[in-house]
Amino acid sequence: LASYDVVIVGGGAAGIACAASLRERDASLSVAIVDPADVHYYQPGWTFVGAGIFSPSTTARTMASLIPRGVDWVKAAVAAFDPARHAVVLEGCRLLRYRTLVVAAGIKLNWEAIEGLVDTLGRNGVTSNYRYDLAPYTWKLVQETRAGRALFTQPPMPIKCAGAPQKAMYLSCDHWLRQGRLRDMEVGFYNAGGALFGVPEYVPALMRYVERYGAALNFQHNLVRVDGEARRAWFVRSGEDGQSEVVQREFDMIHVVPPQQAPDFVRASPLADEAGWVDVDQFTLRHKHFENIWSLGDVMNAPNAKTAAAARKQAPVVANNVLHFLGRARGLARYDGYGSCPLTVERGKIVLAEFGYGGKLLPSMPRWLINGTEPSRLAWYLKEWMLPPIYWKAMLRGREWLARPVITEG
Ligand code: FAD
Repeated sequence: LASYDVVIVGGGAAGIACAASLRERDASLSVAIVDPADVHYYQPGWTFVGAGIFSPSTTARTMASLIPRGVDWVKAAVAAFDPARHAVVLEGCRLLRYRTLVVAAGIKLNWEAIEGLVDTLGRNGVTSNYRYDLAPYTWKLVQETRAGRALFTQPPMPIKCAGAPQKAMYLSCDHWLRQGRLRDMEVGFYNAGGALFGVPEYVPALMRYVERYGAALNFQHNLVRVDGEARRAWFVRSGEDGQSEVVQREFDMIHVVPPQQAPDFVRASPLADEAGWVDVDQFTLRHKHFENIWSLGDVMNAPNAKTAAAARKQAPVVANNVLHFLGRARGLARYDGYGSCPLTVERGKIVLAEFGYGGKLLPSMPRWLINGTEPSRLAWYLKEWMLPPIYWKAMLRGREWLARPVITEG
């Protein structure tokens, strides 16, 4: 029966960053990452794939090439948690024991929740930047569409990268505008929620682009069914009076963002809160009931924006606090809720939303360099040229000059 100082469930953005951070702090720790996937994806790049800026292959690397040196990769799926025995159950009923556990299994995209969607994804004008193999189809459709109606949908929160549904719309509209086709397009944004963006400071800049592109905003519209061949979509529109009705729209292309939830094996576990997310203290990221379990990334319930940028800040916090528990670090680190959403409002400009708990603005650049509430060319260069190497070469390798945690207690 294998046993480790730290077992990390999930080798995505959060899991690899945390493993690297742990080993960087203490190379004597025994650490295992459990993940069945052969490929690791840089998902923040998919918005750019959908706009023809990045080629898909730049957003994928083999898992084997990213597992930090000295860390074991257990290539299997975790089926269940057994916190009483300090063990995870792997598929095939193998047990893996730990002294401390870190859960970083990401979020589940629930494509099946929308009737008819799975049958038509990638065909009939139905696309999504939320999948590696589909993001190139978004760009193909954008290039091919010369006139007609384009719909962009956003499901109920929480979702990863809450700005991504509208990023797809802005970049598509920008292309049509530059090609002189936008006047022949009818563009609609269909959002299950009631606001364009959760932090109000960023909304005025975004609204100027909505107006520039002539996009119609439809709030409280939740996509429930797609018929690709008939090119029709159905939404449940909820009224203020609590009444709801089904509305139908025809489309030439539709960019769908699926509803999202915690993975099933997490939802069904003793680690989950009522909504299914791993139940953590939002500052220490330690589990509320199990003292030797932590969680980071999209899978847990701290009220931050679910982004890779958030995971970059969370990884050293968890690494430090795990070491503190093992008696190998002095103070406790606290996470301030930082998350970031680079809203690509046009090709070459970004509204760089950076904020923490309670919507507090947490800009990482001085205002004269990048004013996050206004479109910025420098922020675009940051996203196109700087963030990918920061992700691969710093975040996933435990280099923390951009995410040094504050240690608060001795
Ligand atoms: P993931 O990176 O998804 O990794 C989860 C891992 O867990 C996977 O490797 C998976 O194989 C593994 N796993 C799942 N189930 C099991 C199991 N049973 N056992 C073992 N392992 C398991 N973020 C930004 O910061 N900026 C952006 O601009 C941005 N844009 C985005 C645009 C799009 C289109 C998308 C889809 C996402 C975007 N994000 C962005 C969000 C960002 O990609 C995620 O927040 C980030 O990847 C979360 O990291 P994670 O490790 O929690 O999950």
